[in-house]
Amino acid sequence: MPASQWVKTLIFYELLVGMKATITVFIDRIVLRKRKAVTLQYPHEKRDLPGTYRGMIALLKYDDDTEKCVGCDLCEAACPSRVITVISSEVAGEPMKRYAKEYYMDMTRCLFCGLCVQACPVDALAMTREYEWAKYNKRDLYLDKEQLLALGDRNFPVREKKLEFQHPNVAYFNIGYKNLPPKDS
Ligand code: SF4
Ligand code: SF4
Repeated sequence: MPASQWVKTLIFYELLVGMKATITVFIDRIVLRKRKAVTLQYPHEKRDLPGTYRGMIALLKYDDDTEKCVGCDLCEAACPSRVITVISSEVAGEPMKRYAKEYYMDMTRCLFCGLCVQACPVDALAMTREYEWAKYNKRDLYLDKEQLLALGDRNFPVREKKLEFQHPNVAYFNIGYKNLPPKDS
């Protein structure tokens, strides 16, 4: 064995090469104090989430406290993991209108892909930035409508006006809409 190989073996050369990045950071951070720590002391410190972060899903309401969801089942059809169960019903006294009488999400199966949010025709679903949902019992992640609406209220306190009031023309094409808003002059 050549002498250089002996030296490399004696000083654990391969090990030092493998640890190069670790040793460099150790010297910079601990010895020279040139770098800031990259470890966050979670849960006391939290990472800044990217703007596109997809967290727990919420159901939304309009500003007059009515639910946006019209029970159309499109989110259930769009979901690749069969997370969503919608049981829809007619709005009492308004047979042209429907709503989600019951709405369930089994969040143990959710991929956070956002397809349900995209499928919803009335923007009744939204992805929040909540992620601290670790549970001891997985049944606690089977969320009902009230829990999903509470998530929406908590994360989106500013609610939208009803579509009829956002776009007055919508009301005139909606044969199920009883009380037309005033026409813009
Ligand atoms: S985010 Fe994706 S997996 Fe989760 S409920 Fe929506 S469609 Fe289903
Ligand atoms: S959340 Fe949207 S897509 Fe799902 S049932 Fe309600 S209105 Fe339809």
